[in-house]
Amino acid sequence: MANLRLINITKFFGTVPAVSDVNLEVTDGEFIVLVGPSGCGKSTLLRLIAGLETDHAGEIIIDGNNINHVPPKNRDIAMVFQNYALYPHMTVYQNMAFGLKMRKISKEEIDNRVLEAAKILKLQDLLNRKSKALSGGQQQRVALGRAIVRKPKLFLFDEPLSNLDAKLRVAMRGELIKLHKKLGTTMIYVTHDQVEAMSMGDRLVVLHEGKVQQIGKPLGIYEHPANLFVAGFIGSPPMNLFHCKIRKDAQRFTIVTDDFELTLPDTFLQVIKSSNLPDNRVILGVRPEDIHEMRPEICPPLKQQISARIEYIEPLGSEVFATCTSGKHEFIVRFSAKTDIHPDQKIKLVIDMERSCFFHPTKENELTMNNNESGDLS
Ligand code: ATP
Repeated sequence: MANLRLINITKFFGTVPAVSDVNLEVTDGEFIVLVGPSGCGKSTLLRLIAGLETDHAGEIIIDGNNINHVPPKNRDIAMVFQNYALYPHMTVYQNMAFGLKMRKISKEEIDNRVLEAAKILKLQDLLNRKSKALSGGQQQRVALGRAIVRKPKLFLFDEPLSNLDAKLRVAMRGELIKLHKKLGTTMIYVTHDQVEAMSMGDRLVVLHEGKVQQIGKPLGIYEHPANLFVAGFIGSPPMNLFHCKIRKDAQRFTIVTDDFELTLPDTFLQVIKSSNLPDNRVILGVRPEDIHEMRPEICPPLKQQISARIEYIEPLGSEVFATCTSGKHEFIVRFSAKTDIHPDQKIKLVIDMERSCFFHPTKENELTMNNNESGDLS
Protein backbone atom coordinates (compact mmCIF):
# COMPACT_ATOMS: atom_id res chain seq x y z
CA MET A 1 0.00 0.00 0.00
CA ALA A 2 1.43 3.39 -0.91
CA ASN A 3 0.84 7.09 -1.35
CA LEU A 4 2.55 8.53 -4.38
CA ARG A 5 3.37 12.15 -5.10
CA LEU A 6 4.81 13.46 -8.32
CA ILE A 7 6.13 17.00 -8.06
CA ASN A 8 6.97 18.97 -11.21
CA ILE A 9 8.11 15.90 -13.15
CA THR A 10 9.72 16.77 -16.47
CA LYS A 11 11.57 14.37 -18.76
CA PHE A 12 13.27 15.25 -22.04
CA PHE A 13 14.43 12.83 -24.73
CA GLY A 14 17.00 15.00 -26.51
CA THR A 15 15.22 18.30 -26.98
CA VAL A 16 11.72 16.76 -26.92
CA PRO A 17 9.84 17.01 -23.63
CA ALA A 18 8.07 13.65 -23.25
CA VAL A 19 6.57 14.71 -19.91
CA SER A 20 6.24 18.34 -18.79
CA ASP A 21 5.79 19.59 -15.26
CA VAL A 22 3.48 16.81 -14.07
CA ASN A 23 2.05 17.11 -10.56
CA LEU A 24 -0.06 14.32 -9.16
CA GLU A 25 -1.06 12.97 -5.78
CA VAL A 26 -2.25 9.36 -5.58
CA THR A 27 -3.71 8.23 -2.28
CA ASP A 28 -3.26 4.82 -0.73
CA GLY A 29 -5.40 2.18 -2.45
CA GLU A 30 -6.51 4.34 -5.37
CA PHE A 31 -6.89 3.06 -8.95
CA ILE A 32 -5.57 5.86 -11.14
CA VAL A 33 -5.71 5.74 -14.94
CA LEU A 34 -3.29 7.75 -17.09
CA VAL A 35 -5.08 8.25 -20.41
CA GLY A 36 -4.24 10.12 -23.59
CA PRO A 37 -3.45 9.61 -27.26
CA SER A 38 -0.34 7.85 -28.54
CA GLY A 39 2.85 9.76 -27.73
CA CYS A 40 1.34 11.88 -24.92
CA GLY A 41 3.90 10.62 -22.39
CA LYS A 42 1.88 8.00 -20.45
CA SER A 43 4.45 5.20 -20.65
CA THR A 44 7.32 7.56 -19.92
CA LEU A 45 5.59 8.74 -16.76
CA LEU A 46 4.96 5.15 -15.66
CA ARG A 47 8.55 4.15 -16.41
CA LEU A 48 9.82 7.14 -14.42
CA ILE A 49 7.80 5.97 -11.41
CA ALA A 50 9.20 2.45 -11.85
CA GLY A 51 12.73 3.84 -12.15
CA LEU A 52 13.17 2.43 -15.68
CA GLU A 53 13.70 5.98 -16.97
CA THR A 54 15.98 8.35 -15.11
CA ASP A 55 17.48 11.84 -15.54
CA HIS A 56 14.27 13.72 -14.90
CA ALA A 57 13.52 16.98 -13.15
CA GLY A 58 11.15 17.01 -10.18
CA GLU A 59 10.52 14.63 -7.33
CA ILE A 60 8.97 11.19 -7.05
CA ILE A 61 7.81 10.57 -3.50
CA ILE A 62 6.43 7.32 -2.11
CA ASP A 63 5.09 7.32 1.44
CA GLY A 64 6.93 10.54 2.15
CA ASN A 65 10.32 9.34 0.84
CA ASN A 66 11.98 10.78 -2.23
CA ILE A 67 12.85 7.77 -4.43
CA ASN A 68 14.53 9.68 -7.29
CA HIS A 69 17.77 7.81 -6.76
CA VAL A 70 16.42 4.45 -5.58
CA PRO A 71 17.13 1.73 -8.18
CA PRO A 72 14.05 0.00 -9.69
CA LYS A 73 14.56 -3.28 -7.81
CA ASN A 74 14.44 -1.49 -4.47
CA ARG A 75 11.31 0.57 -5.19
CA ASP A 76 8.89 -2.21 -4.21
CA ILE A 77 6.87 -1.57 -7.36
CA ALA A 78 5.56 -4.26 -9.75
CA MET A 79 4.97 -3.41 -13.39
CA VAL A 80 2.84 -5.35 -15.88
CA PHE A 81 3.62 -4.72 -19.54
CA GLN A 82 1.55 -4.92 -22.72
CA ASN A 83 3.62 -7.83 -24.06
CA TYR A 84 3.50 -9.81 -20.75
CA ALA A 85 7.29 -10.48 -20.97
CA LEU A 86 6.95 -14.11 -19.75
CA TYR A 87 9.69 -16.72 -20.10
CA PRO A 88 8.18 -19.00 -22.79
CA HIS A 89 9.97 -22.22 -21.79
CA MET A 90 9.13 -21.92 -18.11
CA THR A 91 5.90 -23.21 -16.64
CA VAL A 92 3.27 -20.91 -15.21
CA TYR A 93 4.51 -21.78 -11.71
CA GLN A 94 8.14 -21.07 -12.63
CA ASN A 95 7.24 -17.77 -14.26
CA MET A 96 5.42 -16.63 -11.15
CA ALA A 97 8.08 -17.91 -8.78
CA PHE A 98 11.09 -16.57 -10.70
CA GLY A 99 11.31 -13.08 -9.15
CA LEU A 100 10.81 -14.47 -5.65
CA LYS A 101 13.60 -17.05 -6.14
CA MET A 102 15.94 -14.25 -7.21
CA ARG A 103 15.09 -12.52 -3.95
CA LYS A 104 16.05 -15.66 -2.05
CA ILE A 105 12.60 -16.10 -0.54
CA SER A 106 12.07 -19.52 1.06
CA LYS A 107 10.61 -22.35 -1.03
CA GLU A 108 7.65 -22.65 1.34
CA GLU A 109 6.83 -18.94 1.14
CA ILE A 110 7.14 -19.01 -2.67
CA ASP A 111 4.77 -21.98 -2.79
CA ASN A 112 2.23 -20.19 -0.61
CA ARG A 113 2.36 -16.97 -2.60
CA VAL A 114 2.16 -18.65 -6.02
CA LEU A 115 -0.75 -20.86 -4.98
CA GLU A 116 -2.59 -17.90 -3.46
CA ALA A 117 -2.14 -15.80 -6.63
CA ALA A 118 -3.08 -18.77 -8.82
CA LYS A 119 -6.31 -19.12 -6.84
CA ILE A 120 -7.18 -15.43 -7.22
CA LEU A 121 -6.47 -15.55 -10.97
CA LYS A 122 -7.98 -19.00 -11.55
CA LEU A 123 -4.68 -20.42 -12.77
CA GLN A 124 -4.54 -23.49 -10.48
CA ASP A 125 -5.06 -25.96 -13.33
CA LEU A 126 -2.39 -24.37 -15.52
CA LEU A 127 0.52 -24.21 -13.09
CA ASN A 128 2.52 -26.93 -14.88
CA ARG A 129 1.78 -25.69 -18.40
CA LYS A 130 4.60 -23.96 -20.35
CA SER A 131 3.70 -20.30 -20.79
CA LYS A 132 4.23 -20.51 -24.58
CA ALA A 133 1.29 -22.96 -24.65
CA LEU A 134 -1.17 -20.46 -23.16
CA SER A 135 -3.75 -18.19 -24.80
CA GLY A 136 -3.24 -14.41 -24.69
CA GLY A 137 -5.72 -14.04 -21.84
CA GLN A 138 -4.04 -16.80 -19.83
CA GLN A 139 -0.61 -15.27 -20.43
CA GLN A 140 -1.96 -11.96 -19.22
CA ARG A 141 -3.17 -13.64 -16.02
CA VAL A 142 0.28 -15.14 -15.46
CA ALA A 143 1.87 -11.71 -15.93
CA LEU A 144 -0.55 -10.37 -13.30
CA GLY A 145 0.23 -13.33 -11.06
CA ARG A 146 3.94 -12.64 -11.30
CA ALA A 147 3.26 -9.08 -10.13
CA ILE A 148 0.87 -10.13 -7.33
CA VAL A 149 3.25 -12.65 -5.73
CA ARG A 150 5.72 -9.88 -5.08
CA LYS A 151 3.17 -8.16 -2.80
CA PRO A 152 4.40 -4.76 -3.97
CA LYS A 153 3.46 -1.37 -2.55
CA LEU A 154 2.37 -0.17 -5.94
CA PHE A 155 1.24 -1.78 -9.20
CA LEU A 156 1.94 -0.16 -12.55
CA PHE A 157 0.11 -1.39 -15.66
CA ASP A 158 1.25 -0.32 -19.13
CA GLU A 159 -1.63 -1.05 -21.55
CA PRO A 160 -1.84 -4.63 -20.22
CA LEU A 161 -5.00 -5.55 -22.13
CA SER A 162 -4.28 -4.15 -25.58
CA ASN A 163 -3.13 -7.48 -27.06
CA LEU A 164 -6.41 -9.18 -26.18
CA ASP A 165 -9.49 -9.39 -28.40
CA ALA A 166 -12.38 -7.04 -27.63
CA LYS A 167 -14.47 -9.53 -25.63
CA LEU A 168 -11.60 -10.78 -23.50
CA ARG A 169 -10.46 -7.22 -22.92
CA VAL A 170 -13.83 -6.30 -21.42
CA ALA A 171 -13.79 -9.46 -19.26
CA MET A 172 -10.24 -8.75 -18.05
CA ARG A 173 -11.16 -5.16 -17.18
CA GLY A 174 -13.73 -6.58 -14.77
CA GLU A 175 -11.14 -9.04 -13.41
CA LEU A 176 -8.67 -6.24 -12.76
CA ILE A 177 -11.26 -4.12 -10.98
CA LYS A 178 -12.12 -7.11 -8.77
CA LEU A 179 -8.42 -7.76 -8.16
CA HIS A 180 -7.94 -4.17 -7.07
CA LYS A 181 -10.87 -4.45 -4.65
CA LYS A 182 -9.45 -7.65 -3.23
CA LEU A 183 -5.84 -6.48 -2.82
CA GLY A 184 -6.57 -2.84 -1.99
CA THR A 185 -3.15 -1.90 -3.38
CA THR A 186 -2.50 1.41 -5.13
CA MET A 187 -2.61 0.88 -8.90
CA ILE A 188 -1.62 3.13 -11.79
CA TYR A 189 -2.90 2.00 -15.15
CA VAL A 190 -1.96 3.39 -18.56
CA THR A 191 -4.27 3.22 -21.56
CA HIS A 192 -5.00 5.19 -24.72
CA ASP A 193 -8.55 3.81 -24.66
CA GLN A 194 -10.86 6.34 -23.08
CA VAL A 195 -13.67 3.79 -22.62
CA GLU A 196 -11.30 1.56 -20.65
CA ALA A 197 -10.19 4.59 -18.64
CA MET A 198 -13.76 5.68 -17.86
CA SER A 199 -14.81 2.21 -16.79
CA MET A 200 -11.82 1.41 -14.57
CA GLY A 201 -10.37 4.45 -12.86
CA ASP A 202 -11.30 5.89 -9.47
CA ARG A 203 -9.73 8.98 -11.02
CA LEU A 204 -8.33 9.75 -14.45
CA VAL A 205 -5.31 11.81 -15.42
CA VAL A 206 -5.79 13.05 -18.98
CA LEU A 207 -2.48 13.75 -20.72
CA HIS A 208 -1.75 15.52 -24.00
CA GLU A 209 1.70 16.36 -25.38
CA GLY A 210 3.32 15.49 -22.07
CA LYS A 211 1.13 17.82 -20.02
CA VAL A 212 -1.68 17.05 -17.60
CA GLN A 213 -4.93 18.38 -19.03
CA GLN A 214 -7.28 17.34 -16.24
CA ILE A 215 -7.37 15.14 -13.16
CA GLY A 216 -10.70 13.97 -11.76
CA LYS A 217 -13.37 11.34 -11.41
CA PRO A 218 -14.48 9.84 -14.74
CA LEU A 219 -18.00 11.25 -14.66
CA GLY A 220 -16.84 14.69 -13.53
CA ILE A 221 -14.42 14.85 -16.46
CA TYR A 222 -17.09 13.58 -18.86
CA GLU A 223 -19.60 16.19 -17.74
CA HIS A 224 -17.13 19.05 -17.36
CA PRO A 225 -14.07 18.62 -19.56
CA ALA A 226 -11.46 21.21 -18.60
CA ASN A 227 -10.75 22.19 -22.20
CA LEU A 228 -11.52 21.42 -25.83
CA PHE A 229 -8.88 18.66 -26.00
CA VAL A 230 -10.52 16.74 -23.14
CA ALA A 231 -13.99 17.40 -24.59
CA GLY A 232 -12.86 15.77 -27.83
CA PHE A 233 -10.92 12.92 -26.26
CA ILE A 234 -13.18 11.69 -23.46
CA GLY A 235 -16.52 10.35 -24.68
CA SER A 236 -17.30 8.29 -27.72
CA PRO A 237 -18.57 9.88 -29.88
CA PRO A 238 -16.96 13.09 -28.62
CA MET A 239 -18.73 16.20 -27.38
CA ASN A 240 -20.35 18.30 -30.14
CA LEU A 241 -18.86 21.77 -30.38
CA PHE A 242 -20.70 24.80 -31.78
CA HIS A 243 -18.98 28.14 -32.41
CA CYS A 244 -21.45 30.77 -31.23
CA LYS A 245 -21.86 34.42 -30.32
CA ILE A 246 -23.57 35.76 -27.26
CA ARG A 247 -26.20 38.46 -27.90
CA LYS A 248 -27.82 40.53 -25.20
CA ASP A 249 -31.37 41.70 -25.90
CA ALA A 250 -33.16 43.54 -23.13
CA GLN A 251 -32.49 41.38 -20.09
CA ARG A 252 -31.87 38.12 -21.95
CA PHE A 253 -28.70 36.53 -23.24
CA THR A 254 -29.06 34.54 -26.42
CA ILE A 255 -26.57 32.14 -27.96
CA VAL A 256 -26.55 32.70 -31.67
CA THR A 257 -25.21 30.66 -34.57
CA ASP A 258 -25.91 31.19 -38.26
CA ASP A 259 -28.45 28.39 -38.10
CA PHE A 260 -30.20 28.55 -34.73
CA GLU A 261 -30.53 30.49 -31.48
CA LEU A 262 -30.59 29.23 -27.91
CA THR A 263 -31.52 30.93 -24.67
CA LEU A 264 -28.76 31.01 -22.10
CA PRO A 265 -30.00 29.28 -18.91
CA ASP A 266 -29.84 31.36 -15.73
CA THR A 267 -27.32 28.92 -14.30
CA PHE A 268 -24.72 30.12 -16.83
CA LEU A 269 -25.54 33.83 -16.62
CA GLN A 270 -22.83 34.76 -14.14
CA VAL A 271 -20.19 32.61 -15.84
CA ILE A 272 -20.81 34.16 -19.23
CA LYS A 273 -21.18 37.69 -17.85
CA SER A 274 -17.88 37.55 -16.02
CA SER A 275 -15.89 35.87 -18.79
CA ASN A 276 -13.75 38.00 -21.00
CA LEU A 277 -15.01 36.72 -24.34
CA PRO A 278 -13.36 38.24 -27.45
CA ASP A 279 -16.09 39.63 -29.75
CA ASN A 280 -18.61 37.87 -27.49
CA ARG A 281 -17.61 34.58 -29.06
CA VAL A 282 -18.01 31.32 -27.16
CA ILE A 283 -17.87 27.62 -27.92
CA LEU A 284 -20.87 25.59 -26.80
CA GLY A 285 -20.22 21.92 -25.96
CA VAL A 286 -23.09 19.42 -25.98
CA ARG A 287 -22.92 15.65 -25.51
CA PRO A 288 -24.81 13.57 -28.12
CA GLU A 289 -27.25 12.35 -25.44
CA ASP A 290 -28.20 15.94 -24.53
CA ILE A 291 -29.74 16.70 -27.91
CA HIS A 292 -33.30 15.43 -28.20
CA GLU A 293 -35.93 15.06 -30.84
CA MET A 294 -38.64 17.63 -30.26
CA ARG A 295 -41.78 16.26 -28.64
CA PRO A 296 -44.94 18.11 -27.54
CA GLU A 297 -43.70 18.14 -23.94
CA ILE A 298 -40.34 19.67 -24.93
CA CYS A 299 -41.28 22.31 -27.43
CA PRO A 300 -39.24 25.50 -27.12
CA PRO A 301 -39.99 28.70 -29.08
CA LEU A 302 -39.56 28.29 -32.83
CA LYS A 303 -36.16 29.98 -33.01
CA GLN A 304 -34.68 27.58 -30.48
CA GLN A 305 -35.66 24.53 -32.42
CA ILE A 306 -32.86 23.15 -34.52
CA SER A 307 -34.02 22.17 -37.98
CA ALA A 308 -31.70 19.34 -38.91
CA ARG A 309 -31.29 16.60 -41.42
CA ILE A 310 -30.15 13.08 -40.63
CA GLU A 311 -27.09 12.34 -42.78
CA TYR A 312 -26.33 8.80 -41.66
CA ILE A 313 -27.00 6.54 -38.72
CA GLU A 314 -24.94 4.03 -36.73
CA PRO A 315 -27.23 1.50 -35.00
CA LEU A 316 -25.26 -0.11 -32.15
CA GLY A 317 -27.98 -2.36 -30.79
CA SER A 318 -28.49 -0.59 -27.48
CA GLU A 319 -28.53 2.89 -29.04
CA VAL A 320 -28.33 4.69 -32.36
CA PHE A 321 -25.92 7.51 -33.17
CA ALA A 322 -27.06 9.82 -35.95
CA THR A 323 -24.82 12.32 -37.72
CA CYS A 324 -27.00 15.36 -38.36
CA THR A 325 -26.50 18.66 -40.14
CA SER A 326 -28.12 22.01 -39.58
CA GLY A 327 -26.86 24.56 -42.11
CA LYS A 328 -23.09 24.35 -41.88
CA HIS A 329 -23.11 22.62 -38.48
CA GLU A 330 -22.52 18.89 -38.27
CA PHE A 331 -23.09 17.07 -34.99
CA ILE A 332 -23.95 13.68 -33.51
CA VAL A 333 -27.17 12.89 -31.69
CA ARG A 334 -27.83 9.79 -29.60
CA PHE A 335 -31.22 8.14 -30.07
CA SER A 336 -32.67 5.17 -28.23
CA ALA A 337 -32.48 1.79 -29.97
CA LYS A 338 -36.23 1.97 -30.63
CA THR A 339 -36.01 5.06 -32.82
CA ASP A 340 -37.38 4.91 -36.36
CA ILE A 341 -35.18 7.70 -37.73
CA HIS A 342 -33.59 7.19 -41.15
CA PRO A 343 -31.06 8.96 -43.39
CA ASP A 344 -32.29 12.07 -45.27
CA GLN A 345 -35.06 12.57 -42.72
CA LYS A 346 -35.77 16.17 -41.65
CA ILE A 347 -36.05 16.49 -37.91
CA LYS A 348 -36.53 19.14 -35.20
CA LEU A 349 -34.09 18.94 -32.32
CA VAL A 350 -33.65 20.71 -29.00
CA ILE A 351 -30.57 21.02 -26.82
CA ASP A 352 -30.73 20.43 -23.07
CA MET A 353 -28.90 23.66 -22.29
CA GLU A 354 -28.67 22.95 -18.55
CA ARG A 355 -26.29 20.09 -19.32
CA SER A 356 -24.12 22.04 -21.78
CA CYS A 357 -20.61 23.38 -21.33
CA PHE A 358 -19.07 26.62 -22.54
CA PHE A 359 -15.48 27.05 -23.64
CA HIS A 360 -13.33 30.13 -24.25
CA PRO A 361 -12.97 30.59 -28.03
CA THR A 362 -9.21 31.17 -28.02
CA LYS A 363 -7.89 29.80 -24.71
CA GLU A 364 -10.10 26.71 -25.14
CA ASN A 365 -10.65 26.21 -21.38
CA GLU A 366 -14.08 25.49 -19.92
CA LEU A 367 -15.74 28.60 -18.53
CA THR A 368 -16.58 28.11 -14.88
CA MET A 369 -16.98 30.47 -11.97
CA ASN A 370 -13.53 29.37 -10.77
CA ASN A 371 -11.50 30.20 -13.83
CA ASN A 372 -13.19 33.32 -15.14
CA GLU A 373 -11.38 36.53 -15.63
CA SER A 374 -13.27 39.65 -14.83
CA GLY A 375 -14.62 41.44 -17.83
CA ASP A 376 -17.84 42.82 -19.16
CA LEU A 377 -19.99 41.51 -21.89
CA SER A 378 -21.20 44.47 -23.85
P1 ATP B 1 1.91 5.14 -26.73
O1 ATP B 1 0.47 5.11 -26.30
O2 ATP B 1 2.06 5.20 -28.21
O3 ATP B 1 2.75 4.10 -26.08
P2 ATP B 1 2.74 7.15 -24.81
O4 ATP B 1 1.67 8.12 -24.45
O5 ATP B 1 3.02 6.06 -23.85
O6 ATP B 1 2.50 6.57 -26.27
P3 ATP B 1 5.55 7.72 -24.59
O7 ATP B 1 5.96 6.38 -25.07
O8 ATP B 1 5.69 8.04 -23.16
O9 ATP B 1 4.04 8.03 -25.04
O10 ATP B 1 6.32 8.81 -25.46
C1 ATP B 1 6.23 10.20 -25.21
C2 ATP B 1 7.13 10.94 -26.19
O11 ATP B 1 8.49 10.64 -25.92
C3 ATP B 1 6.90 10.55 -27.65
O12 ATP B 1 7.08 11.71 -28.43
C4 ATP B 1 7.97 9.53 -27.91
O13 ATP B 1 8.33 9.51 -29.27
C5 ATP B 1 9.11 10.04 -27.04
N1 ATP B 1 9.97 8.95 -26.55
C6 ATP B 1 9.60 7.93 -25.75
N2 ATP B 1 10.65 7.13 -25.46
C7 ATP B 1 11.71 7.64 -26.11
C8 ATP B 1 13.09 7.29 -26.22
N3 ATP B 1 13.58 6.23 -25.57
N4 ATP B 1 13.88 8.08 -26.97
C9 ATP B 1 13.41 9.16 -27.61
N5 ATP B 1 12.12 9.57 -27.55
C10 ATP B 1 11.28 8.83 -26.81
